[in-house]
This record gives sequence, structure tokens and C-alpha cells, in this order.
Amino acid sequence: MKLTAEKLKDLTIRSAHEALMKGDFTAVELAEAYLAEIEKKNPELNAYLEVFADVIDQAKEADRKIAEAKKEGKESELDILIGIPMAIKDNILIKGRIASSASKMLENYTATYSATVIEKLKAKGVVFLGRTNMDEFAMGGSTENSAYGITKNPHDPTCVPGGSSGGSATAVGGNMCLAALGSDTGGSIRQPSAFCGTVGLKPTYGSVSRYGVMAMASSLDQIGPIAKTVEDAEIIYDAIRGFDRYDSTSYDLPEIPASAKSFGEARKIKIGVPESFLNQGGIDEVVLKNFRETLAKLEKAGCEIKTVEMPNLHYSLATYYITVFSEVSANMARFDGVRYGSHLEGKDLLEDYMKTRGEKLGREVRRRIMLGTYVLSAGYYDAYYNKATQVRELIRRDYAKAFDEVDIVATPVAPSSAYPIGKNTNDPLQMYLEDIFTVPINMAGVPGMAVPTRLGSSELRRGEAGNTDHLPLSIQIVAPWRRDDILFTLGKIIESCRA
Ligand code: GLN
Repeated sequence: MKLTAEKLKDLTIRSAHEALMKGDFTAVELAEAYLAEIEKKNPELNAYLEVFADVIDQAKEADRKIAEAKKEGKESELDILIGIPMAIKDNILIKGRIASSASKMLENYTATYSATVIEKLKAKGVVFLGRTNMDEFAMGGSTENSAYGITKNPHDPTCVPGGSSGGSATAVGGNMCLAALGSDTGGSIRQPSAFCGTVGLKPTYGSVSRYGVMAMASSLDQIGPIAKTVEDAEIIYDAIRGFDRYDSTSYDLPEIPASAKSFGEARKIKIGVPESFLNQGGIDEVVLKNFRETLAKLEKAGCEIKTVEMPNLHYSLATYYITVFSEVSANMARFDGVRYGSHLEGKDLLEDYMKTRGEKLGREVRRRIMLGTYVLSAGYYDAYYNKATQVRELIRRDYAKAFDEVDIVATPVAPSSAYPIGKNTNDPLQMYLEDIFTVPINMAGVPGMAVPTRLGSSELRRGEAGNTDHLPLSIQIVAPWRRDDILFTLGKIIESCRA
């Protein structure tokens, strides 16, 4: 089978796996087809910071294993991910390769070990295509904060792809890989997924090991998949989750009883909508209309929609940013120009620190370090950090209470669809406000997923003065703690309603 660009668009992990097993194409041919797409599109879209030089060697190794299994009649024992080409966000370590977190601070930093998620995917035979662009150290929501140029939206290069995992979302949405990994501290998987028309999962906090992902705000960070379909996201999630002795916050999810797993068919899924919170989000008309239409379709499909009261959600944004600034200022202290990455020489040690951090860290990173240092300083600690920690508990309880009544809480992912490049770059507060619907989920530690409700045009179209018809739209669904499985059940129903 000739793998044309058109063919790549229809490919999912399952269909690619079946084709590899049938011998319709080889892992090398699949990798070559993606490399050709990257060569064509990446100069403009800048999704990849680096395409690995050994992609074909990795694919050959997958082909060798497939051929061997076929010879022994053991194809069924092969993992579904063998030979599947994936892209990896630049803050996830792969041993022997550069991991820069899109920062000048780490421009020449080579990882000395691999993240647990990478070890797991590698053991399954995944082909790593390259590392993707992001907001520096994952701080941002548009991928405009990268030290290596902005990434552009695969549907419209005059718009942002969202962030901070914008490179991964553009790579998946632009058919430059079959799936990708991102990280999500306050929306960085879900919001770029919504902007690029991909499925993005922020798993339950602790269900995926954070070992080997560069820490931004450790109590909020999670790694998760960005994929073309809900099933693909589920396949990757199943491959990367589980307890890891190198991450003390990680654990194995409990076995979900089969009756609960199939509850999409067994009983109606109850979906709660926090109406009074939605009213505060400053949502665009198109986004709200699409959200309501999606709920109506889900109701028709058998779900029950009801309003839930979650009075503390409107504190999420303020408490999230206080928490993030605090944890960022602590986590970033390790980049002192001595132990990791870049080093600039001053007249003494203090000047070394000041020069290195002043010149090698970008504006947004420096802003957060300063605000976090202020928030944590004696005299302010109680007023800000401790207060935010208390309110965080109230947010968590809002979810716990809502989930006594409903199975899922739904909102839009973001107040707007992808917006023009440059719109918020000089207004950090406006940039933060765009995160209103994604951050509460991280604060509560519960799982959330962005599922496209409108895919956007398949060809590249350029800024059409106010018209956003060609851009994707999504719904965000949130499940109780450790019930990521319900997201997959409902996510598939949403996909079938979209068709
Ligand atoms: N946009 C949010 C922020 O800037 C989320 C970032 C993230 O999830 N890494 O903090």
C-alpha cells in the first residue's frame, strides 16, 4: 500500500497496527511517510525542534521483531504499539538525546537517563520521531514562549496551536506523527488538543509516573497522550500508566469491575454542567453554541444532563497561579548554571548565577520565578501559599460533591478556539485567564480529557478575518479521581455523535 498524505490522515494506532500485521506496509515505510510529511510541513509549522537521525534504524528494528514473530506464528503476542511513530515533548527525557524544555538554559543538555514513560513505550517498540516544541519549561498556553520560535496551528498558520504542548498537538493534528506525549500542569495537553483538533488526556494525578519529566509544578504535573482518537489515547495511557518506584506519588489504578467499565451501555451517563462557573468564563459565542449542541446530542444518545453547583471553581485560576509560581520558583532553583545546562562566567559565583539565569531563561520563566519567590517569602507565605492550599482543598471537595450526583463534569476546554499569533503576548494576565476551564482539574487531581466536537478543515487555511469556521472545537470531560475509564467510555460516545 502506498502511504500517501491522504492515507496518513485516516490512520489510527489500531488501523496502522493491523496494516503492519497484514504486511500492507512496513514500519520503515510508515516512518518514511511521516518523515516526508515533516519535511514538507515543519519548516512552516515548527512542531519539531529535532527529528531524530536514527528514525529509520528504530523502524527497522520494529520490522525485524515483526518478521520474527510472524515466522514463529506469534503475531498476536506483539504489542499494538510496535512500529508506531510518536513525537515526544521536549521536557521528557530520552537517554542520550537533547532535552531542552525549549529553553536556552538547556540548549546542549543531553539526558543521562530515560523517563519511565519512555522506557515503557520503548519496550513496546514505539518509534520515536523527534522532540516537539513547547512553551519554555511548559510555562504558557500558546507555544509562543519557546526560545526556538513559535509553533503554528496545523489548521491555520496565522493562529497559535495552544500550549504548552503545542508542538505535540501540531504534530498530531498536522499528521506529522501518529500520536504524541505531552505534559499537563494546568491544561497543557487539553488546551492545545482543543486548538489542534486532537484528543488530549490529563490522567488522574499519580496514575502516570513523572520520573524523567522536567518538573514545573510537581503537585500538578502529569504526562499524558495527545492522539487522533479516544481509543488511541486509551492505548497510550494503558501503555504508560502504573506504579513506579522512582515516583513516590505514582500508583497502580484499581481494577475497574467489568460492569462499571461498560456502564456507557449499561446505564445512562450523568453529565453535570457547572452553569454558574461557565458564566464567568467569558466564553466566545461559537464555543458556547458548539458546547450546547454537543450536550443536546449526548442527551439524545441517552446521557442525562444536569446542572451542578461548584461554587469554589471560580477561585481556581488565582489559587492555581499562586501554587504554580511557588512550585516553579522552587523547581527552577536547580538551574543555577553549575549543575545543569548553560553556564555564563561572571566575576564571582553570584554573578555567574545572575548572568546565566538572567540571559538563559526567558521572560515568562523569570516572571514566574520572581512572583513565586515573593509569594513564598516570610510574611506573605500564609497570606498566599497557605491560603491557596486551603482553597485547593475546597476545589477538590466541589468535585467530590458533584461526583456524588453525576458521573462526569463537562465544560468547554477554553473560552475560545485557536486565536491569532501575538494576540496575548504582551498581556500575561489575559494569557492566564484563558486557562480558566483547565486549571481546576489539576488542582483537584482528577482526570480530564479534551475531545474534538468539530474537527476543523483538513486543509491549511489562513486567517480569515474573524471567521473561525475552519478551526477545531472541543469539549472537556472530567471524571472522578482514578476513574479515567469513564472518560474513554464517554469520549467514544462523543466521537460517534460528531460523525
Ligand atoms: N497555561 C498554563 C500555565 O501557563 C498551563 C501550563 C501547563 O499545563 N504546563 O501555567
